[in-house]
Amino acid sequence: DAPVLEIRDYRLNFNTFDGVYHALDGVNLAVGKGQSLGIVGETGCGKSVTVRNVLGLLPSPPAEVVSGEILYNGKDMLKVTPAEMQKIRGIEIAMIFQDPMTYLNPVFTIGTQMVDVILAHQKALDKSVRKNKKQARAHAIEMLRKVHLPNPESQIDRYPHELSGGMRQRVLIAMALSGSPKLLIADEPTTALDVTIQAQILDLIAELVEDMGLSVIIITHDLGVVAKVCDNVAVMYAGQVVEYGTIEEVFGKPKHPYTEGLLKSIPHPGKPPEELYGIPGFLPNLLTPPIGCRFQDRCPKAMEICGTPPKNRNNAAHDRTVLCHLYEEGFEDA
Ligand code: SF4
Ligand code: MG
Repeated sequence: DAPVLEIRDYRLNFNTFDGVYHALDGVNLAVGKGQSLGIVGETGCGKSVTVRNVLGLLPSPPAEVVSGEILYNGKDMLKVTPAEMQKIRGIEIAMIFQDPMTYLNPVFTIGTQMVDVILAHQKALDKSVRKNKKQARAHAIEMLRKVHLPNPESQIDRYPHELSGGMRQRVLIAMALSGSPKLLIADEPTTALDVTIQAQILDLIAELVEDMGLSVIIITHDLGVVAKVCDNVAVMYAGQVVEYGTIEEVFGKPKHPYTEGLLKSIPHPGKPPEELYGIPGFLPNLLTPPIGCRFQDRCPKAMEICGTPPKNRNNAAHDRTVLCHLYEEGFEDA
């Protein structure tokens, strides 16, 4: 099957007062229909930046696309007109973010905001359509039911501050899905929530992927989240995808030394915290990225050749990928 979204050879800089910040360097990714892809890595590795321009959310300047394509069903999202984008944003592709409060207006009820979004979607698709608030409200209630908000008929008339954080995130998911998108991009959707609520929201996302045939990209620094919800995972480091594959491949048989380090740093029940492995060192400064492997200063397996850039053995975005000199000759995917 052709992927729903495919990012190819994507390079992006930010032109700053301090110089050129090389944020993304040759990112390749793909997500298929009904599949979920996790993007993991430390804060600042480029996870969010990678997906922002799927919906044209990086202003240029300062962002500058150096190369690449972001293909949504074959259409390059880096080239769509604002008018085309209006018909895609929220309707074909929706995004949810970490803090629901930032995206909900405190002075309007949930219902008012959802009805507005639903009517705006209808208008974007067909300018001649007449507003039908009653129908939009019924659709909003149906969406709130779908995300398991209890008593949606009465909750819909409440204000955001009257709901808990978990409920607000459910509302935001309902709002995001109200235009029946094919692709949902969730950027740290559970980071601001406490652990039990996190699990409930993840179960919900997994359920929606299943029921609605939705494709999902989840961005997180939490490997447990990815293991729970995703089919495939991309591990990012310093603006590059250093390892990509199915959950079983990457978490079961990690190959890149950075992935190995990340997996060792997951806390285990019964494992004393002082034994936790932390990857020593820091992300390189991307104003002056290292010439060779971007992980070389922190890599326990670094060799002389690592001073030159490693190359992806595979070019297709959906192939198992390891960006490391240890695997340049290819490897067994046993
Ligand atoms: Fe380590 Fe070299 Fe592989 Fe980079 S290319 S991850 S430095 S072994
Ligand atoms: Mg981020």
